[in-house]
This record gives sequence, structure tokens and C-alpha cells, in this order.
Amino acid sequence: MIIGVLGAGQLGRMLGLAGIPLGLQFRFLDPEPNSPAAEVGNQIVGSYEDDDSIARFADGLSVATTEFENVPASCLRSLAVHVPVCPSATALEATQDRLIEKRLFSELEIPTPPFLPVGTPGDLLSALNSTGYPAVLKTRRFGYDGKGQWVLYDAGSTKSLIPSLDTSPDALILEGFVKFDRELSLVAARGRGGDIRFYPLVENRHERGILRLSVAPADGTTDVLQRTAEEYVVRIMQALDYVGVLAVELFQCGHRLLANEIAPRVHNSGHWTIEGAETSQFENHLRAILGLPLGSTEPRGFSAMWNVLGAPPVVNEVLAVAGAHLHLYGKEPRSGRKIGHVTLSSPDRGSLDGKLERIRVAAPQS
Ligand code: AMP
Repeated sequence: MIIGVLGAGQLGRMLGLAGIPLGLQFRFLDPEPNSPAAEVGNQIVGSYEDDDSIARFADGLSVATTEFENVPASCLRSLAVHVPVCPSATALEATQDRLIEKRLFSELEIPTPPFLPVGTPGDLLSALNSTGYPAVLKTRRFGYDGKGQWVLYDAGSTKSLIPSLDTSPDALILEGFVKFDRELSLVAARGRGGDIRFYPLVENRHERGILRLSVAPADGTTDVLQRTAEEYVVRIMQALDYVGVLAVELFQCGHRLLANEIAPRVHNSGHWTIEGAETSQFENHLRAILGLPLGSTEPRGFSAMWNVLGAPPVVNEVLAVAGAHLHLYGKEPRSGRKIGHVTLSSPDRGSLDGKLERIRVAAPQS
């Protein structure tokens, strides 16, 4: 069976690494030649908007999926004529625009930060009257890793930002700034028959808008918090008739959870599951889209996942830490770029912090 993956980055690579033992083969479509996933399958170098590339990609696939949420929905719709596509174009579209996504949260009665659409500088000023300062202005589409967003602290910073903004009608959204206690995420898989499995809540720490560290399970969560997050994910997955793995990023404020965004794919905060859970998010995504039984999402002890950003790590020092597992994605190092990750696994939570300190030294950011 050949699985088609739109995008050939590290997520595609890890899907391939999870699927090869299951006897699966992989084909990737990505405009960038020699992408990280090309080492675990065949890559078609082509545009997501080119009919010929899409037809060559689709030929003989059992199912197509995506590792990249900004694939044009038109590409998924063209593919769906030839082959089952999971998640669907409609599901992906709901997550590609922050305004549509936040409206979905509201319709599903999932708490989310206050938000308002912004089309013109006048809209921005009246939206700021409603949110107050500080507030977060974001592009509705194509934002990632903190790109395409600005924290507005006062009228002065707003005034100086306005001339550089794209103020076309559908470009921007303003959100109230949430003084959260911490950031969490929930990764879950939904099979073709509608069965859902949840991984435990994970705590995520970001630096300069990029995920740096995930701790799984998150410290100090309660059953109520886990069940609340699960209930929100069920509503989202059922509303979108979602098949596959998705992640919901959440802000924790006391006992409340506010949904920030949906990632309609395997997620960086789920990488720890490769060694740290009974079944990884990558294998469960494949099981889900193929209509196979989902695997157990039980954690095996405690895990911490550290992203390797920008510079290659000192491999000897990383591997000298007991319980450390190194994943390099075959990407050229570049400042701030995710080029790999390290997962630390341990039967006890107490020993993780000391080991993490050693990993921080062996894999510093550049
Ligand atoms: P996003 O691209 O929406 O995931 O945002 C990137 C990061 O910016 C988040 O992980 C938060 O740390 C921060 N952030 C985003 N939205 C807000 C908000 N409304 N209030 C406070 N911080 C935010």
C-alpha cells in the first residue's frame, strides 16, 4: 500500500519511519527538492496547485494525507476525486484561517480568547477599544512559529505598526492578550469509524514564538482538566468529521482552558510519543487514515522533548544521557530552524530535569 503525503518535511519523514514497519510505502509531494522525507519514500517535486503533479502523486495511492496545514484546499479536492483524503479539504479549511477557527470554537462553546476581525486601520482601533491593551494582532492565514503576529502594548506601538500592515479585508484578526499560567496541548487520533484516542495533556514552553520544550504528561494536571480538554477535542473532531491525528493548543488560566488553535496534523508537541507512548502519534495517524484499529495512547513513564534549533547538537553528549533519543531531520542548519529533537524518557519524573539540563548544554539554540 502506498500512502501519499502532501509535504515532505520532518513530519512526513516521521510518518514514513512509523509506517515502514507496517509494510507501508510512501510518496510525498513538495515543491522543495531533497526534502527531509525524501529519504523514506519517493518525492515528487511539484506544486500543490499543478494538476499534472497532483495526478502523478495520486496515481495508485491507497490514501492521501497532509503534514502541512496550508496546502490549498483545491489540491485536496482534486485529489479526493482519485483517492480517499484524510483529513478532508473541509476540515483543513476550517483551520487555515484563524477567524474561521475561532468562530468554530465559539459555535462549539469552547472558550477562546476574545477576538475581532480587522479589515482597516479604523477596524483595528475600534477592536482595540473592545479588547484593551495589551492585545495580539495576527494574520488570519499562513502564520506559524510566532510569525505574522504582533503584541500591541499601547497606542504608540499600534500607530507605528499600522503603515506596515496588510489591511485588505480578510487579512487580520485581533485577540485579547491572555495572561495564561501555561501553555498545554492535547493530541488525539480519530479513526474512520469515529473512535477517538487521546494522549495526555502536554505542557509546552516557547522561546521567541518557537516551541522549545514539551513535558509529557504535563505536571500537576487533574482528571477534570484532562477530561475538559478531551471534551473540546471531541466537539472539534465530530464537527469536522475529522479522520487522523490533530492537536489543539490551549492556554491554561487557573481551572480554565482557552483554545488557541488547531493543528490538523501530527504535531511537534506529540513527538515524545515515539519513545514515550505505547503507540506514537505517527503510527496512530496512519492507523486512523487506513481504517485500522487505533493503538494505545498510554504514556510509558515521563518524557521531555527538546527541539534542536538552528545548530547541530553535540551528538556524543546527547547520547551519553541515559534515556535520551536523538532525531535529526536531515535539514541544513539555519538560525532558529527546527533541525531535530531529543526525547528524554524516564520511569520517574524527578530525574528528567537534571537530564534536561545536560541536553540543553549539548543542543543549544542558534
Ligand atoms: P500562535 O501562532 O497563535 O500559536 O501563537 C504563538 C504563541 O504566541 C503562542 O504559543 C502564545 O505563546 C502566544 N500567543 C498567541 N496568542 C496569544 C494571546 N491571545 N494571548 C497571549 N499570548 C498569545
